[in-house]
Amino acid sequence: MSEEDLIVLALAVVARDLSLARKMVNFAKDGVLEEGEMQEKLKLPPTELRQLLYRMQDSNLVVQLGTKEDEAGNRLTYWRINSDLAKSFLLRRFKEVREMLIRRREEESSGEYYVCAADPTHIRLSFDEVISRMDESGLVCPVCGAMLEPVDRDKIMEEIEKMLDVLDKALEVLEGEAS
Ligand SMILES: [Zn+2]
Repeated sequence: MSEEDLIVLALAVVARDLSLARKMVNFAKDGVLEEGEMQEKLKLPPTELRQLLYRMQDSNLVVQLGTKEDEAGNRLTYWRINSDLAKSFLLRRFKEVREMLIRRREEESSGEYYVCAADPTHIRLSFDEVISRMDESGLVCPVCGAMLEPVDRDKIMEEIEKMLDVLDKALEVLEGEAS
């Protein structure tokens, strides 16, 4: 992976938008961006862009360099993209997601879970929780009233294994590269 690919990917993780991240990197001159110019090119409202840049700065992926006035009296704000921190950022994020998936896998394998039959994001209860609710709310979803049904554990485990596999491969590629 090239250094440019890495920083595009890292910025995309924060922005949740790959094409926007790519545009930012492409528009930067020697890694430096002027905020007003970026606003025009990315067609983003000023506050949205500012919030995005702050989020990127929180992850040390960009840093505000300072401001100056041009000849017409416009205030220019400069930011620098920290390409050299992209790899460590991605490694950290990937490892966090990996930990999360492993915890979820343990949770799934240690008990039976029930979800709303209409929309699994409504509620997720352990078998014990379902039993303790039997007398009051019954076996229905508190959000929409649909029945609760046991989670198809095999399917979820399969999804988790697949994602872990992808992450392991990505980590291998990142860690295998000379920095
Ligand atoms: Zn529901």
